[in-house]
Amino acid sequence: MDRIRIALVGVGKIARDQHLPALAADSGFELVAAVSRHGPVQDIPTFSDIASMIAGTAGENALDAVSLCTPPSGRHALACAAIEAGLHVMLEKPPGATVSEVIDLQTRARARGVTLFASWHSREAAGVAPARSWLRESRIKSVSVAWKEDIRVWHPGQHWILEPGGLGVFDPGINALSIATAVLPRPFFLTSAVLHVPENRQSPIQAELDFVDTAGVPVTAAFDFLQTGPQSWDIEVDTDGGALRLSHGGSKLWIDGALVHEQPEAEYPGLYARFAELIAAGESDVDVTPLRHVADAFLLGRRVVAPAFVE
Ligand code: NAP
Repeated sequence: MDRIRIALVGVGKIARDQHLPALAADSGFELVAAVSRHGPVQDIPTFSDIASMIAGTAGENALDAVSLCTPPSGRHALACAAIEAGLHVMLEKPPGATVSEVIDLQTRARARGVTLFASWHSREAAGVAPARSWLRESRIKSVSVAWKEDIRVWHPGQHWILEPGGLGVFDPGINALSIATAVLPRPFFLTSAVLHVPENRQSPIQAELDFVDTAGVPVTAAFDFLQTGPQSWDIEVDTDGGALRLSHGGSKLWIDGALVHEQPEAEYPGLYARFAELIAAGESDVDVTPLRHVADAFLLGRRVVAPAFVE
C-alpha cells in the first residue's frame, strides 16, 4: 500500500514531543500538511484552520488521514470536518470533551466509511500487555493507583486544562484509567469520589476515587496535580500469586519487587502502527471506557473547594 498521507491538526506540546518524531520515523506515513495557529511547521504546507487545509490539499496533494492533537474541547467539530471530507481520523486522548460526542463521531465515521481511532497512548507502554497476561492467571485482592505529577512542570501555560472540558487532574489520570481498563480482567465502576476544585478554576486539581469490580474487588485511585518532588505514575495490584506493580506510566513491570519487563518508550510509534493497521483493515477502534469513568466521577464526586491555583 502507498504511504498514508497525513496531516497534524493542533501543533502544541504533544504534537512536537511525540507525533512529529513518531511520524518522521514511520515509513508507512507521509506528513504532508499541518494546521497550526503559530506559523509554519517544519517545511510542510501549514494552514490556520482545518477547512482551508481540506480545501488546500485537494487534487494531487490529497490527504488520506488527519491526527487531531488539539485539546479535547473543540475536537468534535474538527473530527466532523475531517470525516465529512472522507479522511481517516486519529484522536489524541481523551477522545472528546463528552462521551456522547465521541459516540457521534463513531456513527459518522461508520456512515462515511472511514477509520476512527480513539488512541490511548498509555496502553502502548511496554509493561501493559505482559501485565494483562499475568493478571489473567491471578486472583486479584485489591488494586491501588497513584497518578501524581506537578502541573507546573508538565503543563506550563496550558490554561485549558483547568477549564470546563479540560478534565483537570483527569487529563493525566485518564491515562491510568486507560491502563487499568486494559489490564484488569473484569469491568469496574465508581462507588464514590472526592474532587478538589481550586476556587478560581473549573476542573479538579486532585481527586480520590473508589471503584469496585464486578467480583467485589476494591480499586482505589489517587490523582494529584500538585505533586512536587518524586512523581508517580504507578498501579499496584495485590494478588494471591504476588504483588504486581506497573510504574513509570506502565513502562516498567515489577512482580514482588523484581523488575521483570522494561523497554525503551515507544508509545507513539505503536499508536501510528495501529492506526495504519486499522486503515488497511477498514476498521475503527473507539473505546470510551476511560472517558466514561471520568464522566462518572464528575456525576458522583463530592466537590471540595481547594485553594486558588496560580501558575
Ligand atoms: P497544548 O500544548 O496546549 O497544545 C494544543 C495545541 O492545539 C495548541 O498549539 C493550540 O493552539 C492548538 N489548537 C487548539 N485548537 C485548535 C484548532 N481549532 N485548530 C488548530 N490548532 C488548535 O496541549 P497538549 O499538551 O499538546 O495536549 C493536546 C492533547 O494531547 C490533549 O488532549 C492532551 O491530553 C493530549 N496529550 C498531552 C500530553 C502531554 O504530555 N502534554 C501527553 C499525551 C497526550 P493555540 O495555542 O493557538 O490554542
